[in-house]
Amino acid sequence: MKKLLICALATLLCLPVFSQKKAKGAPVSPPARIAKNIILLIGDGMGLTHISAGMYFNNNQSNFERFPVAGLQKAYSASDLITDSAAGATAFASGIKTYNGAIGVNTDSMPVKTILEEAEERGLATGMVVTSTLTHATPASFVAHVRNRKFDEEIATFFLKTEIDFLAGGGKKFFEQRAADGRNLYQELKDKGYQVSDFAQKNASSLAPDPSKNFIYFSADADPAKASEGRTYLAPLSVLAANHLKKRSEKGFFLMIEGSQIDWGGHANESDYIVSEVVDFDQTIGKVLDFAAADGETLVIVTADHETGGYAISPGSELGKIRGAFTTTGHTAQMIPVFAFGPGAELFAGVYENTAIYTKMKQVLGF
Ligand SMILES: [Zn+2]
Repeated sequence: MKKLLICALATLLCLPVFSQKKAKGAPVSPPARIAKNIILLIGDGMGLTHISAGMYFNNNQSNFERFPVAGLQKAYSASDLITDSAAGATAFASGIKTYNGAIGVNTDSMPVKTILEEAEERGLATGMVVTSTLTHATPASFVAHVRNRKFDEEIATFFLKTEIDFLAGGGKKFFEQRAADGRNLYQELKDKGYQVSDFAQKNASSLAPDPSKNFIYFSADADPAKASEGRTYLAPLSVLAANHLKKRSEKGFFLMIEGSQIDWGGHANESDYIVSEVVDFDQTIGKVLDFAAADGETLVIVTADHETGGYAISPGSELGKIRGAFTTTGHTAQMIPVFAFGPGAELFAGVYENTAIYTKMKQVLGF
């Protein structure tokens, strides 16, 4: 483990040296942009078996088959061979291996800049659409910097520090009913000029973001419902987000979309829960690929932070009927598939560290 860590650190430390190597006197020009926009889709806890189960359940059909490029990434964290979502998402967001539970901070608990923050600084539009709370580990790791993923109320305050153009997800209570400081962040976001609404006022299917404003929609007070309970917003709001972000900046956009509850199905050891969440995520991928194919300037990446459940498709399974078996109610350390479509997709072939997702995205955006 230590050896792995040293190697990973050495690689990181070496990168700036190589990229700064230039002939003496050569003019410094910014790296070329390969794609204008990136849409990163994360299926939380989605190993290869989860993808397979969704595909075979859905009569052997899957939008994953539309990707021309696939790769594998090594998901371990700095503290454990088996990562959690916080360290996993921080690797994607900031390109570092950190300890399990860390949100946007390194192994010394110091903040590390995220690709979303960097995109904001460079004038790109940014957004996130998730089926967990907005303060949950994955979305949190793109905007917040706290030493423990459990600090939901503290994480919520970071959404006022970054000008995110489109946000949709649950966890309204962490913005509105705050034990620690009594602040009403929902109102504070409105006061900042954001267009804010929630599940109690508006159905997700009737949302109409004002192109001149940042937009936030709370899909639930706490955790959003399961797909099997009628939650249908991930695909339509992902498309709404992409179209909104396209209007928000001429310079391009970065959008992160998470199928958050694939992981929860794995923790529950419920194959049906996993399959319905993967099918919902797959439909979202289909809509996003349609957007990217029409747009022509958007790179789409799909991956997961880790596998959950030690999930297997067992004998007795057939098309439309999956019999699942599990080795754990936690995560496992298997390598995780990566799929890419659009300009720069070829960079994602091969076998690499999860932190390389970040460096490849930066390369594609010319950062
Ligand atoms: Zn998990």
